[in-house]
Amino acid sequence: MKVVKFGGSSLASTTQIKKVIDIIKKDKDRKFVIVSAPGKRDETDVKITDLLIVYYKSYVEGGDIKEVQQEIIARFAATAKAFSLSLTFIEQLKERIFQLALLSIEDNKYLYDAFLAQGEDLQARLLSEILIQEGLEARYVNPKDAGIFVSDEPRSARILSESYQILAQLNNINGIVVIPGFFGYTKKGDICTFSRGGSDVTGAIVAAGIGANLYENFTDVDGIFSAHPGIVHKPQRVKELTYREMRELAYAGFAVFHDEALMPVFKAEIPIVIKNTNNPTYSGTTICNTRKLTDQSVVGIASNSGFVSINITKFFMNREVGFVRKILSILEKFGIGFERMPSGIDDLSIIVRERFLTPEIEKMILQEIVEAVLPDEIYIERDLSIIMIVGEGMKHSVGVTAAGSFALSSKKINLEMINQGSSEVSVMFGIQKKQEKRAVRALYHAYFEE
Ligand code: ASP
Repeated sequence: MKVVKFGGSSLASTTQIKKVIDIIKKDKDRKFVIVSAPGKRDETDVKITDLLIVYYKSYVEGGDIKEVQQEIIARFAATAKAFSLSLTFIEQLKERIFQLALLSIEDNKYLYDAFLAQGEDLQARLLSEILIQEGLEARYVNPKDAGIFVSDEPRSARILSESYQILAQLNNINGIVVIPGFFGYTKKGDICTFSRGGSDVTGAIVAAGIGANLYENFTDVDGIFSAHPGIVHKPQRVKELTYREMRELAYAGFAVFHDEALMPVFKAEIPIVIKNTNNPTYSGTTICNTRKLTDQSVVGIASNSGFVSINITKFFMNREVGFVRKILSILEKFGIGFERMPSGIDDLSIIVRERFLTPEIEKMILQEIVEAVLPDEIYIERDLSIIMIVGEGMKHSVGVTAAGSFALSSKKINLEMINQGSSEVSVMFGIQKKQEKRAVRALYHAYFEE
């Protein structure tokens, strides 16, 4: 059995949905279908999820909601009409959009999620109806009935482990099962979404729950590329990646696949294949547990901006037991996790996401660190980007880091920091954001073209 997930661009228009139907029809094993909300039809378009955000904001602020309600309804109704679905069905879709504006605003921490989830929910209802119209046996299954139970963390829910056993019962359903992606239910019955792009996560959870042989993730690109095509001209496609490689690349900005979607399939050892709805017979990129190593030790270069570094220096830091613990407990108090922590004998850099540091929080954190560890120097370095060089083969090759730092130095790009984890599956270079694109190109040239 296969779980197939279709992203927003695959469901954005009637033409795209026809391709989706063909893909489902082509293979009888494609029994579990997970959908995103409709995405952009072209560059100037707006995703349904983003329209739902506008709707939510206008509703809570007491603004005019009519226009956006109509815009959302028009998108779904146009598809329903194109496939000649009944007027009653279209009325039901409309009603679901209107009903959002009847939900309680006061003391409702799940309200935002209820709006967000509606795009996927309506799309799943719509697609199952279309599949039936096409003569297939299909059924919409709500995540609550499927057994997708999640933690009580609005907009960043995590799956509860007991869900998997319940999900296994989906195997007893005949025909195609269509499930909306992106959200689950808390034990108390409230909708909680995963973080943005979270339909990939639902696909992975369902794949693990039903014990799929394969998780096919349909997008609008031919697979994963070894660098961002917006930065590097025609980068190579990667045929195979391990879960660990994908995790590192997704973390550092490869948005084709959500990094949180890796865990469920990784544990269950279910291979993922990233495919293109517009080119479905192309092999795409397979992500699995192990792959045959080639002489290409680096498989991908990813980059991400929005980092700051808290740099702390103290003479004889290495002799002070509990130094790092004191600093990290201050960050913990402010609810800030760190991304990386390269250190020397007398200095330490803590890399955090810029969005966590408001000017007030930053001031308080610095003050508390000064009081707790009396550093010789402490300062914040902003506008940092990280570049990740990823590849399982690096462990067995000599000079990979050297080639990267040489490529950067030859372009006069200053390396602010460099870090390699013990698993040796990636090397991180920290640089100034303004040099990010140039650096990626230089590294791509060094690892893939020279
Ligand atoms: N529709 C949601 C988003 O735009 C989830 C998804 O597409 O996976 O983030």
